[in-house]
Formats: sequence, structure tokens, C-alpha cells
Amino acid sequence: MATAWFGPCPHCNASLSYLEGVAGSSMSPLCPRCKSVVTVSRATFLMADNSRPTAKAPLAVKPTS
Ligand SMILES: [Zn+2]
Repeated sequence: MATAWFGPCPHCNASLSYLEGVAGSSMSPLCPRCKSVVTVSRATFLMADNSRPTAKAPLAVKPTS
């Protein structure tokens, strides 16, 4: 069963999606940003996580009053 989790690249700290057990996954996947090998314990496919800003704190909810 494929699982996915999100974390930073250990090299360049880019936000990545770690997709485990999907087609094209590898035991030594390359970071899509810095092209360095990321060490993983399961076969993983790395994808840049563009759904949120890189290494930024979550947006604070502004009080309406
Ligand atoms: Zn990287």
C-alpha cells in the first residue's frame, strides 16, 4: 500500500512529498530541487511539494475585530 508524507529535504530543506511504494520509487531517490540523494528506509518517490510555501510557518489567522 502506498503511503505519502511530507517533510523537508535533508540537503536543501525544500518541502517534499515522500511517496512510498509508488511506481518509480527508489531506495536512493533524488531531491527534485538540489538533485542530491535522499536516504530513505523504504522505496520512495520524491516530489516537490508546491501546495505550501517552503519552510515557512503556517499562515496566522488574523483576528477579525
Ligand atoms: Zn534538496
